[in-house]
Amino acid sequence: MIANVIVDVPSQAVDRIFDYSVPDEFAETITRGCRVHVPFANRPVQGFVIGLTDQSDIPVSKLKPIQEQIDLIPPLTEELLQLAEKIKTETLSLHVAVLKAMLPQAMRAKYQKNLHLQTAPETLEAVLQPFFKESSVMANWDEWRKEADEEEKKAAARAIRKGQLSVEPVVSTKDAAKKRLVFGLAVKNEKAREEAETLKIKAPKQAAVLFYLADQDKDSLYTVQELETYGSKAALETLVKKDLLHKQQAVVKRDPYEGREFTATGNLDLLPEQDVVLKEIIDCMESEQQRTFLLRGVTGSGKTEIYLQAIERTLEEKKEAIVLVPEISLTPQMVNRFKARFGSRVAVMHSALSKGEKYDEWKKIRDGEVDVVVGARSAIFAPFNNLGIIIIDEEHEASYKQEEAPRYHARSVAIMRAESYACPVILGSATPSLESYARASKGVYRLLTMENRVNDAAMPAVTLVDMRDELRQGNRSMFSDDLLERIEARRLKGEQTVLLLNRRGYSTFIMCRDCGYVPQCPHCDISLTYHRTSQALQCHYCGYSETLPVRCPECDSDQIRFFGTGTQKVEEELRKQLQDIRIIRMDVDTTRKKGSHEKLLTEFGNGGADILLGTQMIAKGLDFPNITLVGVLAADSMLHLPDFRASERTFQLLTQVAGRAGRHKKTGEVLVQTYSPNHYSITEVKQHDYLSFYEKEMQIRKMGGYPPFYYIAMIQISHPELQKVVEVTEKMSSFLRSSLSETTKIFGPVASPIPRIKDRYRYQCMIKYKVEPKLTEVLHDLMSSFQSDIARNDVQIIIDTNPYMM
Ligand code: ADP
Ligand code: ZN
Ligand code: ZN
Repeated sequence: MIANVIVDVPSQAVDRIFDYSVPDEFAETITRGCRVHVPFANRPVQGFVIGLTDQSDIPVSKLKPIQEQIDLIPPLTEELLQLAEKIKTETLSLHVAVLKAMLPQAMRAKYQKNLHLQTAPETLEAVLQPFFKESSVMANWDEWRKEADEEEKKAAARAIRKGQLSVEPVVSTKDAAKKRLVFGLAVKNEKAREEAETLKIKAPKQAAVLFYLADQDKDSLYTVQELETYGSKAALETLVKKDLLHKQQAVVKRDPYEGREFTATGNLDLLPEQDVVLKEIIDCMESEQQRTFLLRGVTGSGKTEIYLQAIERTLEEKKEAIVLVPEISLTPQMVNRFKARFGSRVAVMHSALSKGEKYDEWKKIRDGEVDVVVGARSAIFAPFNNLGIIIIDEEHEASYKQEEAPRYHARSVAIMRAESYACPVILGSATPSLESYARASKGVYRLLTMENRVNDAAMPAVTLVDMRDELRQGNRSMFSDDLLERIEARRLKGEQTVLLLNRRGYSTFIMCRDCGYVPQCPHCDISLTYHRTSQALQCHYCGYSETLPVRCPECDSDQIRFFGTGTQKVEEELRKQLQDIRIIRMDVDTTRKKGSHEKLLTEFGNGGADILLGTQMIAKGLDFPNITLVGVLAADSMLHLPDFRASERTFQLLTQVAGRAGRHKKTGEVLVQTYSPNHYSITEVKQHDYLSFYEKEMQIRKMGGYPPFYYIAMIQISHPELQKVVEVTEKMSSFLRSSLSETTKIFGPVASPIPRIKDRYRYQCMIKYKVEPKLTEVLHDLMSSFQSDIARNDVQIIIDTNPYMM
């Protein structure tokens, strides 16, 4: 037998299949999707088996044998293996990078493994029993494999597949597999029931335990906590002494939400708009045809309730659900809503979990113990095998695009997976991405709309404050008088304010504080970026550059400045202006510690502060009835980022944060401080008019030749020497110009926005196209033509076929 292996070596040059022979000892157990250790360039490396054949182009005698089989249960399903190939081709990623991205962090690196007993020793095959009489853990699987004979190894493999044994990675001491004392029946069920009858009067607790266990599968094991409702720990120990129960240490899966109470909730009666939407989704499920829905529902229109009820339907059909939410909205409030409805059938995956916790959540999915996962981007790879629905909440969020290899977008992956299962994908948002809305308008996605808030709550009134006027009136502080007055009024009424400091984009652009002027590229309709090294303003799309102005070219003011301030500074200023105001500040600094995010929110929810001040992380998911004012400081700081999505992001963020106000009985109000009160991305927030924003922005995209009218692909080249980068980038541009169709435009070479990182110079070139069927092929050709430069000359190339953060 011959295995086709993808080796875990991060190099373009070895991004292909290598053949290895399969020694007899693994012949029975090896399957597609298993990881193995193989010799590669004279050292052992990890690899993925992606095929098993009996043929090879290389003579069998020359093939090296697989050294070790790492997984006995393949961690990647057939569907995921095929998906990996598609993603690899579309994103031009290394095959191994995609395969690894699909696994929990703990399984990506070479690790030490331990073998654990998962059932009563008696149930194991006779050859294995002696090993487990002594201890329930065979420390270090590799050592055990060295000592064990053929028959024992095979018996172990069978036991692992039956779930009687498990092999667990030991990532670090902290993340080592968690073990618990567990109890199980040591006698037959009938015998247990007999004993229980005789103990009923004298020892009711012991009897209760036996009665319970007599009705269960004989081999099941239970923790003390699980049996506590029947009998105390003492009763359990007594039963062990009587040889009616046995006890041992077994691996249990961690629960990151252990000890947390989730009050169960049932379905709400749907409102008419919700009803229509849910029916459409259910119809689609029943038709068993893949379909992508775009659900545009204003903030507070009850989208989450739709998700919950659609998932309930999915579970009734014995199918599984993936729910993606942006990392920052994986707040307890969001998780609670899913846990409250589906209890322990929900796995949660986000970056705040430890490696071990993530691994266990992943294993719960693989072992079929849960059927819903709520998670950030990478949860799209959850190893379910009967998917019934995929939901992407806040589908416009940039975090769904991975900005490192493999550069995939969770939305495209979702649709690929949904096609394999013929199930619906729901993209939900109050402010859909232009790409998605354009697709929905064309009928590629099915558009569903909810225009009204639940409970007839009105959309909050939005007031714009022109900060240029404030300055004219001599107010040089970061707060308008209006804002301070309104915060104070809320405090007196015992209501709360959310204050957003939009920090993204600070000090990359310059602005005239007197007239709001921001220097733009004359060719691209994009603000110029200030390059510290050259002291110049540059356009990173076309390379245009000009010197940094000393005075404003519009009004001749000398107040032309970089823009920037931090949350800490805002907090200090607020305290000076409003005596004894109670502020909770939420930013990267105050939320670094695990659980601090939740603590701060709970405190705020309990009325522990007048103001919740924070960066983008406060814009999403908060649903507190007492928030009646939302203030935005410097609404336009993001507007001038050198990114064609800058207006879109501004509109989305402001709409999101405005949506936090007045979601319940009390009316909400929003106050937006801005230097660009006439910019459509700000005026349309005031009008709550997504469609009007969409149409204006589409015109601009059309004129500038940006998505969704054109597709963009970006190639970034780096090298320690400037001359070499320019030379290679130029060669690449001409390669592209001669290989791609005439209608495709190639911009560049131009310097990257940050022209040097870690002593490497960076240049880029951008491809804009409408239809370019050859693109992937040409890019693959490009990579192979420049292979020698990449391998020998330390040139690095990054290709992004769908760049998100420009
Ligand atoms: P969205 O996700 O669209 O912002 P949510 O799902 O958070 O909206 O709903 C806003 C609020 O309305 C929540 O507190 C939710 O519990 C409540 N809600 C949603 N649907 C209903 C309904 N059909 N009846 C009563 N309350 C509802
Ligand atoms: Zn000016
Ligand atoms: Zn330009």
